[in-house]
Amino acid sequence: MFAQFALHERLLKAVAELNFVEPTPVQAAAIPPALEGKDLRVIAQTGSGKTAAFVLPLLNRLLGDGNSQQRVSIRALILLPTRELAQQTLKEVERFAQFTFLKAGLVTGGEDFKVQAAMMRKIDILIGTPGRLIEHANAGNLPLNEVEVLVFDEADRMLDMGFAEDAQRLAEACGPHQTLLFSATTGGNGLREMVAKVLKAPQHLMLNSVSQLNEGTRQQIITADHNHHKEQLVDWLLANETYDKAIVFTNTRVQADRLYGKLVAAGVKAFVLHGEKDQKDRKLAIERLRQGAVKVLVATDVAARGLDVDGLDLVINFDMPRSGDEYVHRIGRTGRAGGEGLAISLICHGDWNLMSSIERYLKQRFERRTVKELKGSYQGPKNLKASGKAAGSKKKKTDKDAKKAAPKRKSGPRPAGKPSALVSEDGLAPLKRKKPAAE
Ligand code: AMP
Repeated sequence: MFAQFALHERLLKAVAELNFVEPTPVQAAAIPPALEGKDLRVIAQTGSGKTAAFVLPLLNRLLGDGNSQQRVSIRALILLPTRELAQQTLKEVERFAQFTFLKAGLVTGGEDFKVQAAMMRKIDILIGTPGRLIEHANAGNLPLNEVEVLVFDEADRMLDMGFAEDAQRLAEACGPHQTLLFSATTGGNGLREMVAKVLKAPQHLMLNSVSQLNEGTRQQIITADHNHHKEQLVDWLLANETYDKAIVFTNTRVQADRLYGKLVAAGVKAFVLHGEKDQKDRKLAIERLRQGAVKVLVATDVAARGLDVDGLDLVINFDMPRSGDEYVHRIGRTGRAGGEGLAISLICHGDWNLMSSIERYLKQRFERRTVKELKGSYQGPKNLKASGKAAGSKKKKTDKDAKKAAPKRKSGPRPAGKPSALVSEDGLAPLKRKKPAAE
């Protein structure tokens, strides 16, 4: 029950109006310490109810004793990596603040600069993306000295998109404040550094992402001989599966563009999204997908972050995601709101052990499936270890071993065809490897 939290009655009224009855696990864990004013570092997925977990304590703090403020100033700042996420968060804030005097506003790229500057003088809660906010800060339009609560949502993705410096500069511009930092994954060194810089003695809350995989989503693998074979499989699946909307994930922009080109040439109505596409492309892709004019989106992880499109019921992993968390993130988009979903991963020889380590991480075994018409020669390793990995695959090298084994190389581009020193023979190392920026 939400009444268990010491929330202002106007907020409890909004919660009741929205028919929220039971707090979700992330809300139960985060709301009490956030209400006490503690800094929090929370790992939780989209769909877990994390937005309410920071919005409710934030509004509660701004409401104080409930007396109307004499003068409006920005007292809370919510940073998100993308414009769509910022828009969704604004809607949530407005729903929870409907019985209060608090006003929120959005500042993201693509809108009129002067209009935004004027709007910022009339709001209590500012929601935005770091890039555009820094432009305002540089122009002297961004008074953050009265900010009491700062939220970073999807902080891992913010860093992947190259916003680390901007986000930290914005944090430094705030007055004395409480900081709440949310991310979907544990992130890498960049996130650890950021946590150390922006949070003071934080409480760490890890909400188990794995348990949040939708049980209504079937998970399958299909083995493939090479990328061309994978392309044929994608074509076949899109033509033969029953689905409302599909998303095909690749790990690189180049592969996303290539696959998109092939699909369009084959007459599939598709869109492609990756880090090099601008906001206009993003908005158009999402609108078309929402309207149903386009049924297929080819995307890299960064580009697809935060997409919330109804009816997305087929996910194809052209490339296996690089970590278990990323897998959960991709698959978490299907079968939302109790609907059925299907997730299919295409697995070449080099993907097997990564796939198997993700199975172990999830404590699940993916269904093995073959497409008769496109059966290739690779059917998985001939012999498996107890772990599910290919027998005969070499022991995972440590970074130290790899360094020893790797020939000394002067700086400059890595020679083509040579694996990075961190890629171990069994393919597990990419789990830990840093992702390329802003795919
Ligand atoms: P989020 O993870 O914040 O994107 O939330 C996912 C969806 O769950 C949103 O549509 C919320 O409005 C909804 N939601 C969040 N918390 C609750 C709750 N306690 N009860 C019912 N729905 C909720």
